[in-house]
Amino acid sequence: MNKSDLIIIGAGPGGYRAAEYAAKNGLSVTIFEKEHVGGTCLNVGCIPTKCFARNAEVLLDLKDATEYGVESLNLEFNYQKVVQRKNGVVDALRQGVESILSLPSISVVKANAAFKDEHTVVADGTEYVADHIIIATGSSTKTLNVEGAGSPQVLDSSDLLSLQSLPESICIIGAGVIGMEFASILNAFGVEVTVVEFLKECLPVLDSDIAKRLRKTLEKRGIVFHMQSAVSTITDEGVSFVNKKGKTEYVKTEKVLMAVGRKPNVEGLNLDAVGVSLEHGAIPVDSASYSVVNTEGECLERVYAVGDVNGRQMLAHAAEMQAVHVVNQILGKADDIRLDIMPAAIFTNPEAACVGLSEDQCKQQGIDYICRKSFWRANGKAMAMNETEGMLKLLSDKNGLITGCHAFGAHAADIIQEVSALMCRNTKVEQLADMVHIHPTLCEILKAAAEVPA
Ligand SMILES: Cc1cc2nc3c(=O)[nH]c(=O)nc-3n(C[C@H](O)[C@H](O)[C@H](O)COP(=O)(O)OP(=O)(O)OC[C@H]3O[C@@H](n4cnc5c(N)ncnc54)[C@H](O)[C@@H]3O)c2cc1C
Repeated sequence: MNKSDLIIIGAGPGGYRAAEYAAKNGLSVTIFEKEHVGGTCLNVGCIPTKCFARNAEVLLDLKDATEYGVESLNLEFNYQKVVQRKNGVVDALRQGVESILSLPSISVVKANAAFKDEHTVVADGTEYVADHIIIATGSSTKTLNVEGAGSPQVLDSSDLLSLQSLPESICIIGAGVIGMEFASILNAFGVEVTVVEFLKECLPVLDSDIAKRLRKTLEKRGIVFHMQSAVSTITDEGVSFVNKKGKTEYVKTEKVLMAVGRKPNVEGLNLDAVGVSLEHGAIPVDSASYSVVNTEGECLERVYAVGDVNGRQMLAHAAEMQAVHVVNQILGKADDIRLDIMPAAIFTNPEAACVGLSEDQCKQQGIDYICRKSFWRANGKAMAMNETEGMLKLLSDKNGLITGCHAFGAHAADIIQEVSALMCRNTKVEQLADMVHIHPTLCEILKAAAEVPA
């Protein structure tokens, strides 16, 4: 019989991290993957988009070359090389994951897996049994239900990453994280970019003030935004939408990127066999244990769901840390992992990032808060880097406990990471103000906010 301590379905960041951590702690593991190890993140998500974001950053810097005294540059942009570099990075990292999964106590099965019961999955007609099962099947692109959504010129993020040449123009439907990252990248690559978004502001995860400033910065770079606009039809030549005044408008475009969110991958898992129904399209889990909750509202003791498939925080680092937390429970090990403190970044140029509460959330929830602000334009390193666009909001409760930080500006993600670590240790604003920060660094922007009187 094919028996192991732990079965994992899906080898993305949630699945492969669970496998590695479990194996290094003495468990035998069988992991199923129907496509490529590394999942969305490595193959068609975080890594390839961040390769492109780096290309965009280089191009934008070169456009400003004369400001740095570099004269008469003759720029020629070779998109094939951009794609080759991205493929090289993805291949190298995928080999890294393959080597992790080649540990003797891990068996990789390249097949689609489905449940037979709470201890058994079936793949290619063979049954596999384990004491514990982790579902880590990730997510895939959602599509808008409008006429023309299935046309060949409509791409999802994976299609876009595999294009061999750039379109002249693109209409991006959705100003969430994926839509905004591609808008920023493609604009830097010289593509004419239009974004159509249903909501009033882009990036709902961010403080609305900061999101607005970021959008305005990107508008100055030439990206056209139509906010509060609902797409009605997509034709071979363009996209029609109803604007906020109720008038129908039309954008002529060569390609369309569908970026209206992602949905958990649950098809084919045969969740009925373990008595589980979806909640808002995702597998329901217990907030503390990440055990799957069945239709009776009871936790299945030995079946867990981590990462995008549970619909909680669709981020690679969330998937990884949920996975480690679950394996710790299987091992009977206590941990200090704070899954409630989940930083997130948007790799536009400039970047945006956040952790914890935004000012909008404090207002909506009636929380007594203090908001301190600081700006890139007042920071020496930002001036030296010629990166003066940016704002940070540091939120605390009335006792000074840090409760959130939202920012946009060069390297905002690195700054937010510091706040995230401080929040994990319940730090107060006054303690942050007392911590020495290297001069000159962008992290001094955070210290400057902490020094603002309440
Ligand atoms: C364009 C883009 C950019 C992104 N950028 C970032 C970023 O910068 N930072 C960030 O934190 N997140 C980013 N994300 C999100 C990130 O990719 C996901 O949050 C992360 O991959 C989730 O990991 P996971 O392990 O839950 O699932 P996935 O990475 O989706 O992996 C799931 C795996 O399970 C496999 N699978 C599914 N069903 C079965 C089955 N029945 N049997 C066997 N195998 C199965 C799939 O083939 C897949 O390989 C981005 C996503 C996209 C699309």
